[in-house]
Amino acid sequence: MPSPSRGSPITPTFSVGARRGSLRRLLPWVARHKGWVGYSLLAFAGARLLEASVPLFLAEAIDLLAAGNWDVRGPVLGIAGAVLARLFVVSSARVAIRRAAVNVAFDLRRALFDRLQRQGLAFFGRHTVGDMMTRAVSDIGVVRRLVSVGTIFLVILTYATTIGFAAMFYLAPELAWMVFPPLPVIAVYALFAARSMRAASEATQATLGHVTERAQETFGGIRTLQAMAREPFVEARFREANDAYRAAFLHQARINSLMTAIMPSLAAVGTLIVLGYGGALVQAGALTPGKLVAFFAYVAMVIQPMRSAGTLVNMVQRGRVSAERLFDILDLPDEIDDQGARGGESGSAAPPVAGALAFQNVTARYGATRAAALSNLTLHIKPGEVIAIMGPVGAGKSTLLALLPRLLDPDAGQLTLDNTPLPAWSLGALRRAIALVPQDAFLFADDLGANLSYDDPEREEALILDAAEAAAFRQTVDRLPDGLDTRVGERGLTLSGGQRQRATLTRGLVRQAPVLLLDDCFAAVDTHTEAQILDGLFKARAGKTTLFVTHRSATAQRADRIIVLEDGLLRAAGTHEKLLAQGGWYARLAKRQGTA
Ligand code: ADP
Ligand code: MG
Repeated sequence: MPSPSRGSPITPTFSVGARRGSLRRLLPWVARHKGWVGYSLLAFAGARLLEASVPLFLAEAIDLLAAGNWDVRGPVLGIAGAVLARLFVVSSARVAIRRAAVNVAFDLRRALFDRLQRQGLAFFGRHTVGDMMTRAVSDIGVVRRLVSVGTIFLVILTYATTIGFAAMFYLAPELAWMVFPPLPVIAVYALFAARSMRAASEATQATLGHVTERAQETFGGIRTLQAMAREPFVEARFREANDAYRAAFLHQARINSLMTAIMPSLAAVGTLIVLGYGGALVQAGALTPGKLVAFFAYVAMVIQPMRSAGTLVNMVQRGRVSAERLFDILDLPDEIDDQGARGGESGSAAPPVAGALAFQNVTARYGATRAAALSNLTLHIKPGEVIAIMGPVGAGKSTLLALLPRLLDPDAGQLTLDNTPLPAWSLGALRRAIALVPQDAFLFADDLGANLSYDDPEREEALILDAAEAAAFRQTVDRLPDGLDTRVGERGLTLSGGQRQRATLTRGLVRQAPVLLLDDCFAAVDTHTEAQILDGLFKARAGKTTLFVTHRSATAQRADRIIVLEDGLLRAAGTHEKLLAQGGWYARLAKRQGTA
C-alpha cells in the first residue's frame, strides 16, 4: 500500500493545468437535458419581468397618493399578482435547473464508474481509492453546483442588468447614465473580494483535507495502531491538523466578514448619486417622486447581482478544475482492450478450452516508468498440468498470474491460451476460462452463498457445497448459523483469515474453469488443513490446468512441475528432485523446511 503523504495536501495524481476546453466539454452533458435547462432559462426571464413590474406599480401608487387620490386598488392588485405569479415561476425554474444539474451529475457519475471499471492493475497501482472517491463525490458535486447555482447566477446577472437598465432608461434616461460609473468599481471590488475569499477557502479546504486524511489513516489502521500503543503519537498528529484547520477557518471567517461588510458601502455610493441628482430632477418637476422610488428599486436590481459576480467567477474556476479532473478519467482509454472474438461474449458457461498456456519472452511492468516486475519470461504449460510457483516476496509471482486473465497486459512478448494469443480471445470468454483466486481474500458485503458463487448467482447450492468440500470449507459453512445465507461483514470480519482464504478458494473452485490460478491461497491455514485442501484440490482439478503460488516446498512437491522466480526472472523449473539437485534458492528453502 502506498504510504499516505505526510503533511502535503492530498495531491491530485493528474496534472491540473487550467485547460480551457473542459468547461466547453461539459456543454454536451448539459445539452442532454436541454428541455429542463431551456424551460428554466425562459422561466427565469419571466420571473425577472414580473419582478421588474413591481416598482412600476409602486410608482403609480405613490404618484396617485401624492396627487391626493386614495384609490390605489389597481396598482396594489398588480403588485400582488406579480409577486404571486413570480413565486410560482421562480420555484418551478429552480426545480427545473436543479433537475438538469442532478441529471448531469448522474450521467457523469455513471460514465466515471464505467471508465474506472475498465482499468487494470497498473491503473489501480497508480491511483488511490481515495482519489477516485474525491472525483466521484466532490468534483461531480462542484460541477453539479456550477450547472445549477452557476446558471441561476448567470441568468440573474444577465436578466437583471438588461431589464433593470431598460426600466431605468424608460423612467429617466439622464439619471440612468449616472448609475454607470459606480458599477465597474463594484464589479472589480467583487472580483477582488471573491479572489481573497477563495484563497482563504482553499486554505481551509486543504487543512480540512489533512484532518480527514489523518482520521482515515488512523481508523484504517486502528488495529495495528492500538496493538502498538501509538495512540498518543497519533493523537498529537491529529491535534496538529485539527488546530491548523481551526486557524484557517477563523482566518476565512475574518476575510469573509470584512469583504462582505465593505460591499454595501460601495453600493450606497450609487444610491447617494441617484438620491442627489434624482432629488434635483424631482424638484425641477422633471421626475415624479413615485418614479424616483421605482428608480431606486431598479438600481438595487442591477447592483445586487453585480455583487455576486465574484462568486460566479469563483464557481466557474472551481468548476473548470473539477471538470478537468473528471475528463482526465473519462478520457482514459480502456487499459485492457477487448477486441478479441474467440470464445464469444454471451452466456456464462466456460468455452471449451483445453488449458494450454504459453508465455513467450514476456516482460511486464506496472506503468511505463516502473521497473519490470517480470522480465523476458518464457514458459509452456501443457493442458492439465499442475504448476507450483515459488520465489521470494516481490519476485513477480502475482504478476505472472495476473497476466493470464489480462488484469495486466505485458509490455513485450506474448501469452497464449490454447495457442491463441490472449488479446484474440474476448475478455469475457478469457476470464470465464481462467479463474484467478487473488492473494488478498476479499469478501463482498453480502451473504456467503453470493460470495462463493459470485460469477453465477443462480448456481445450485449442491455445487457450491461440493466446492466448499474440496476447499475444506464445508465444515465451516455447516457450522454457521444460517449456512450459506449468513451475511459476511464488509470485509468478511466475521470470518477468520484462514476461513476467508478457504472461502475465496471455494469461489475459484466452484467455477470449474479449464484454468485455475491460486495466488498464495494456503498461507493462512495450518499444515494439516493445507494437506486436506490439496487432496480436495487435486481431486476436483484432475485433468485441468492449475497454477498455484506457495511458500512451502512440501506443497510444491505435489505439483507436476515447480517454477522458481527471483527478481522477475525465471530462475529454475522442474520437479522437486531436479531443483534440489540444481541447488540455489529452492534447495536452500527445502533444506530449511526439512523437505530436502
Ligand atoms: P510476488 O507476488 O512474487 O510477491 P508481485 O508480482 O506482486 O510479486 O510483484 C512484483 C513486483 O511488481 C514488485 O516489485 C511489486 O512492487 C510490483 N507490483 C506488484 N503489484 C503492483 C501494482 N499493482 N502496482 C505497481 N507495482 C506493483
Ligand atoms: Mg504476490
